[in-house]
Amino acid sequence: MKHLFKAALAAFVVIAVLSVCGCTADKFEYSDFFAMNTYVSVSAQGADKQILDNIRTAFTEYEKQLSAHYDGSVINSPESSDAESYQNTMILLKQAHSISEATNGAFDFTLGAVTKLWNITGNSPSVPSQNEISEALSHCGYDKISFSDGRFYSSDNKLSIDLGAIAKGYAGDRGMEILKNSGIANASISVGGNVTVIGSSPANLKCGTKGWKVGIKNPFDTSDILGTVNISDATVSVSGSYERYFTQNGKIYHHIFDSTTGYPAESDLISVAVICRDATIADALSTALFVMGYDKAMDFCNSNIYDIGAVFCTADGRVFTTDNIKDDFIPNTNAKLSSSAHIKFN
Ligand code: ADP
Ligand code: MG
Repeated sequence: MKHLFKAALAAFVVIAVLSVCGCTADKFEYSDFFAMNTYVSVSAQGADKQILDNIRTAFTEYEKQLSAHYDGSVINSPESSDAESYQNTMILLKQAHSISEATNGAFDFTLGAVTKLWNITGNSPSVPSQNEISEALSHCGYDKISFSDGRFYSSDNKLSIDLGAIAKGYAGDRGMEILKNSGIANASISVGGNVTVIGSSPANLKCGTKGWKVGIKNPFDTSDILGTVNISDATVSVSGSYERYFTQNGKIYHHIFDSTTGYPAESDLISVAVICRDATIADALSTALFVMGYDKAMDFCNSNIYDIGAVFCTADGRVFTTDNIKDDFIPNTNAKLSSSAHIKFN
């Protein structure tokens, strides 16, 4: 793990600054587009238009295969999907199932009935009745999904798969594969709150040092950062309650659900950043750790079930990191909790 974060101290920057320079023989090329319900940014040294187009096409394809909101997706209409899409989706579903088990349902890829009922990002969301929530929850549960003979089955025909907490990471992994297979050694792909990098940033290449500096947003002021992590060949995935939510009677209802209650998770965290070599795992686990809350999440990281590091920000403005990334997280000591209080770094 240590090795994973041994990127150079002199590295600069947050993804937003990537466009500043391409200083070596091959220039960094950039592509920005909207897919999987979020903004995607690709920067890759020496990429041509065809490679960048391939990534965009691939993302559009993943969205079609994996979306809970598209009737024709593989997860919604498995019987009418082609063999290749089905097999690719199966691989992701198996991984989602295994992470659901490992996190004891903190991450649960079968919460579609609950997420659709709440429809947090819909036009005018409101809190559903307890009866509606209980009914929806009765059609959730990763243990209702099984795999045999190369196919997946659900024991509940009202169960709905929702890969919203893992699909962006998966797309990041696959996108990076496309770049690597094209011979690209230095690149970043940002998919919503997931940033995957290989090699070095333009600035680090200029300085002759390795890695990328990735900024983690301050959830209390999203125009600022909590700090940066130095990584190389890894992903930073952030989950939090501060971006997708609605307010009713003064209470915030966000988009990350507790699979035991059917309500938004009552977490003492406001955001979690997970650092991992695998973007799919990073994405799913950032959601899971958020649901667990700080104490359980820290224990989970320390249990080493997965090789991850994490930066936690609590709802009362304190930041904690796992020991294995202490040397690679550089706090922004000016980060503010409110106009009169600073974030506390532990
Ligand atoms: P974002 O999509 O904003 O990057 P996440 O990766 O944390 O954030 O994924 C949140 C999405 O995952 C929700 O919009 C919903 O579709 C789905 N989801 C919500 N709660 C859970 C959960 N406990 N386990 C798995 N998926 C969830
Ligand atoms: Mg996630």
